[in-house]
Amino acid sequence: MKVRVAVNGFGTIGKRVADAIVRQPDMALVGVAKTRPDYVARRAVDRGYPLYVAGPGAPERFGAAGVPVAGRLADLLGKVDVVVDASPEGVGRENRSLYEKVGVRAIYQGGEEAAIAEASFNALANFEAGRGKRSLRVVSCNTTGIARAAAVVVPRWGIEHWDVTLVRRAADPAETKRGPINGIVPALDMPSHHGPDARTVVPGLAITTVAVVVPTTLMHVHVNHVRFARPPKDSAELVAAFRATPRFRVFTPEDGVEGTPQAMEFARDRAGGETAGDLMENVLWERGVRVEGNDAYFFQAIHQESIVVPENVDAVRAMFELADGPTSVATTDRTLGLGGPLRPGGSPSPTGGAARHDR
Ligand code: NAD
Repeated sequence: MKVRVAVNGFGTIGKRVADAIVRQPDMALVGVAKTRPDYVARRAVDRGYPLYVAGPGAPERFGAAGVPVAGRLADLLGKVDVVVDASPEGVGRENRSLYEKVGVRAIYQGGEEAAIAEASFNALANFEAGRGKRSLRVVSCNTTGIARAAAVVVPRWGIEHWDVTLVRRAADPAETKRGPINGIVPALDMPSHHGPDARTVVPGLAITTVAVVVPTTLMHVHVNHVRFARPPKDSAELVAAFRATPRFRVFTPEDGVEGTPQAMEFARDRAGGETAGDLMENVLWERGVRVEGNDAYFFQAIHQESIVVPENVDAVRAMFELADGPTSVATTDRTLGLGGPLRPGGSPSPTGGAARHDR
């Protein structure tokens, strides 16, 4: 029997999570909830997702706009096993009492405080912690990137300390009210919240993070300096470990990907159906991974709009104990085309590419 899923909050993250849920063999998307009948609401209707009115939304406005709705959020919650809450930062906390009243399990996003859920979650770092839980929080985009990298580095070599400078995108492409549009803004709260947040999924991680915000919408970039307990023998060993891990894409010098513009262009160009334009893997550059003595330096780029999408899918599987971590990750990656072909215009691998994390 399929786990019945609702998505409440159908914006940047919610619409992608909904598109991902419909591709899963063991889940059914029962409906999505939205506050306003805007172009994104029409997208839900166009894709055949039953649309419900969320929070303070007015059904009459949907009717007047010619956007058909199937009811209110409360109606939707009565039909599902779990709700993925992708409402704006802080709104998940307001929604929690409703979910608890109805008795539906809930998955929250990284904009919420860790205390909102029984556990914070990342599929590579702590899948088991999600097992059987009634509420989970998928950590934010930046923390997801860090947690995945920690899942590669920590078990193999141990770390003494890890410093990360996060170069954060100012806004998502569809946002017009955020900045800066010219300038670099240091986040003066030091260290930034990302380090403590990473420890919610990798307990005890010796990490310090600071952040600056820059005028781009094309991904975050992390500048990492890791001091190992027992270092890999050379850069190639570290690169090989990233390449061998699902949800990492390591570009070679020949690929011609100099930075985030080409990485996003690659994502737009590749054949990927509904996930075209997204890049759900941590992006690394072979030449941007360097081991020197006990230390390593590496860059990674994070597509903020999509990196948490596979993690939400795996959170559902962990919660309902549908699979173990590696099986869940492989299923999610195959259905979403992660690890697919590098060459723009190539067709997705017939096996979905889950075994093709060779880039
Ligand atoms: P968004 O603003 O793009 O989408 C939120 C959606 O929720 C909108 O469609 C909005 O109309 C709707 N909404 C507003 N009030 C609501 C309510 N009361 N009930 C239900 N829906 C409501 O936001 P987003 O970027 O998708 O962020 C959602 C969550 O995901 C936040 O916690 C955020 O921190 C987290 N997150 C965002 C990113 C990112 O880069 N965008 C990355 C990772 C995690």
